[in-house]
Amino acid sequence: MTQNFNLFADRVLLNTEELDGYQIGPASLSIQGNHITAAKPMTREAWENTAPSLDITAIDLGDQLVTPAFINGHTHLSMVMFRGLDNSGMAMARNVVEDLYFKVESQLSSEDIYAFSRVGAYENLLHGVGTVWDHYYSGVAVADAIYDAGLTGVVAPTLQDVGGPGVASLEPQWRATLAIHENTKYEKHGITAAWGPHATDTVSDALWKRIAAASQEYDIPIHAHVAQSVEEYTFNMEQHQRSPVERLQHLGVLAQAQHMLLVHGIYINLEDLKRLDPKQHTLGFCPYSQLQYAFPANILAWAEAEMPWLLATDCAASNDSMNVQKEMRFVHGMRVAGATWASAYETFRQSGTPAHAKNIQKVRTQSFHKTEAIADTRFLLSRVWSVPGRMHNKLQVGSLAPGHRANLVVWDPDHPSMWPCIDPLRTLALADSTPAITGMMINGAWIGERDNFAHSLRHNDGYRKALQEPNQRLQVLIKN
Ligand SMILES: [Zn+2]
Repeated sequence: MTQNFNLFADRVLLNTEELDGYQIGPASLSIQGNHITAAKPMTREAWENTAPSLDITAIDLGDQLVTPAFINGHTHLSMVMFRGLDNSGMAMARNVVEDLYFKVESQLSSEDIYAFSRVGAYENLLHGVGTVWDHYYSGVAVADAIYDAGLTGVVAPTLQDVGGPGVASLEPQWRATLAIHENTKYEKHGITAAWGPHATDTVSDALWKRIAAASQEYDIPIHAHVAQSVEEYTFNMEQHQRSPVERLQHLGVLAQAQHMLLVHGIYINLEDLKRLDPKQHTLGFCPYSQLQYAFPANILAWAEAEMPWLLATDCAASNDSMNVQKEMRFVHGMRVAGATWASAYETFRQSGTPAHAKNIQKVRTQSFHKTEAIADTRFLLSRVWSVPGRMHNKLQVGSLAPGHRANLVVWDPDHPSMWPCIDPLRTLALADSTPAITGMMINGAWIGERDNFAHSLRHNDGYRKALQEPNQRLQVLIKN
């Protein structure tokens, strides 16, 4: 039976649609069923004078901090099983997707994918992520794993017809996309579908056109890897005489997509950027993943072009965790990273003169100022809240506002990882504060036990059972 709640806390993060609209103050949230029905600033005195109601559970969270749950806008939950698999780093030196992942993935059953995805779902929950945008084979198995773990999400069953392990299952995964889209049990729990063409070097012109038409027909967004590798870029230029983005424009995909999430975009050239529409397209940036298999994309150019872009973890295999906080911190760190590799630094190292020391400091300062726009705390947080939160018509998340899913996180500002919490927004964007999570609500229901969040989640029967099976299945895969 669903419970209705009135929550109050001295520090609730309310936000308007504007990026700088995040404000923290005493407020109450009304939650009915899966959704937030009211969110309003309120003094403690007014809260304490509110008459109790028999059918609404009133909870006073004191001076804890309440925020929207994070959104991990591009991941492959099942791929947690790849964590540590490429011990030598050999595959990362080449094309890890083709050389390693495709080989193992061709042996995965849907039962494997369900089992591994559940572990990945738990890792997201522990990091305060309430919604994932997943892209993988056996889409229904992924949706079931998300459902059973208690997450909300947008599942894109992977569609391929030119290359990759999913070629043989194209039609079943097409049907799976529609089955997830139409499933009322999933919809009630905030699980819905996206079309999931894998990438521009694994999907034919004909399939891209079919997906674009279906995006319009069913009002389902497209979620794809685009311009992620040098192999993909050169394939498009050599086989189609167009860059990946130019080809998508030529095929009508960019114009027809109900909405399109283009992930990675490392090989997006100047002209390509002009082909994208901020109202219809969102770029996906997964810095730790890109560090492993390529290098980070030019997000400053994206910001200057006023393209919306989100921050996500991609798979655990290439970034080793599902914590979106560290992705925000990485963006912040990109401000000055260029100084390390600048020729001015090498000149200083060789000469050791104070003049050259001042020169490299100048390079650092120039880079710091040039990148100011992407380092703003509210800007960073909007990459894991409001930007991904408005990509799907059927799933409103990322904001504590009426009509949105009741997906929220309660933080203990006195926890050492947040203390002294003078600027909570900056702490959330730049610290490792997920150990300070004391409670999490998804779809209006508490996940695990309040005030005992992480422990209760890892030690409940659901997780214990969820862990036995993937351990056995991984042993079998490793032997093969
Ligand atoms: Zn990916």
